[in-house]
Amino acid sequence: MNEVFDEFDREHLWHPYTSTHKPLPTYKVRSAKGAVITLADGRELIDGMSSWWCVIHGYSNSVLNAAAKEQIDRMSHIMFGGLTHDPAIELGKILLDILPPSMRHIFYADSGSVATEVAMKMAVQAYDNPRKTNFATIRSGYHGDTWNAMSVCDPVTGMHGAFGPALPIRHFAPSPRCRFHDEWDPSDFEPMRDIIRKNSDSLAAVILEPIVQGAGGMRFYHPQYLRELRKECDANDVLLIFDEIATGFGRTGRLFAWEHAGVEPDIMLMGKGITGGFMTFAAVATNERTADMISASQSGVMMHGPTFMGNPLACAVAVASTRLLLSQPWQRRVAEIEDIMRRKLAPAREFDNVDDVRVLGAIGVIQLKEDVDTASFQKRCVEEGVWIRPFGKNAYIMPPYMAVTDAQVEKLCDALVKLVRQ
Ligand SMILES: *Cc1c(COP(=O)(O)O)cnc(C)c1O
Repeated sequence: MNEVFDEFDREHLWHPYTSTHKPLPTYKVRSAKGAVITLADGRELIDGMSSWWCVIHGYSNSVLNAAAKEQIDRMSHIMFGGLTHDPAIELGKILLDILPPSMRHIFYADSGSVATEVAMKMAVQAYDNPRKTNFATIRSGYHGDTWNAMSVCDPVTGMHGAFGPALPIRHFAPSPRCRFHDEWDPSDFEPMRDIIRKNSDSLAAVILEPIVQGAGGMRFYHPQYLRELRKECDANDVLLIFDEIATGFGRTGRLFAWEHAGVEPDIMLMGKGITGGFMTFAAVATNERTADMISASQSGVMMHGPTFMGNPLACAVAVASTRLLLSQPWQRRVAEIEDIMRRKLAPAREFDNVDDVRVLGAIGVIQLKEDVDTASFQKRCVEEGVWIRPFGKNAYIMPPYMAVTDAQVEKLCDALVKLVRQ
């Protein structure tokens, strides 16, 4: 029971993106509390991943645990078809308070990828025109692992290699070159502008992650790109979808990343941090116009309705998580973490094998010149007492910002810099 490597797991359980022939080592976790993960053998690791962006308040947070326990004794689930409940209503009120002012209608989905599917279905339904059904996006994006979500992920780092011929063909503009802190270069938007103008008859929407591109490249781009995009979408009658699944709930220093640009989408996705990483849940919000278009379509209804839609347990925890976040000085905390990471990661810029170091909000990235060998990197991480999982050329940290201490952030940075040093 105290073994960190489990034989059954290795033989029978698939982990994300793994082979049954050569499974990567997986470390067994006994428990996790705050920003600390305890392995089966008692070793403690400082968490630099927030379990893929989501655990914003840290693990086993007492407020979220209490909200879940209270809801479980009422009901953990009830169908959303024809029935409703207070947790769903409460959450809707909170979200409408913090979303872009034009957002008016909310669809609760069960995971981020499903939210992407729902948003894309919404855009197609909104136009209700057999010719206006395609999508444009930017390279280096990530929108999930289901079919249509895959089709708009980066064609190189995503899954087009494995599924290419089976995927619908989308329009890809280059990833914005102009960085978040750079001066705006108007030529950066030209490829996207051309795609929209040439294909406005067939495009239902442009979908992208605002400001921060997460799992597809860990890139931070210029807010002006989104302002140009909004204008072009309006001029050509194309909807704009912001995927805020990774950026939402404070991670980038704003509650949602659209705020960096002051540009409102037509459809907006939330997931990951919405329940503070307690359980799977997501939401899709739309403005009145998009909802009207869908309701005026031939089908007359939004054609989606998953079994676990509006799950009361998830809604109750999401209410508790969002209230907890808003009751604390989260913006100051994210800014403090950003400062520490900026200072502590900077030395890596001098390393020969490092391409770039960048920090925004509670996200710190060291981009290497070569792909990181995940298995050996993880082994060294565990030896250093931290949990960091690199992806491709990017070794990055995005700690649970409402739970980590300054000392823990410093230790994560020191370990990351040490681990990338050759
Ligand atoms: C993680 C992620 C998704 C997919 O969410 P899942 O819950 O893993 O299905 C979609 N978009 C973005 C930006 C993400 O980071």
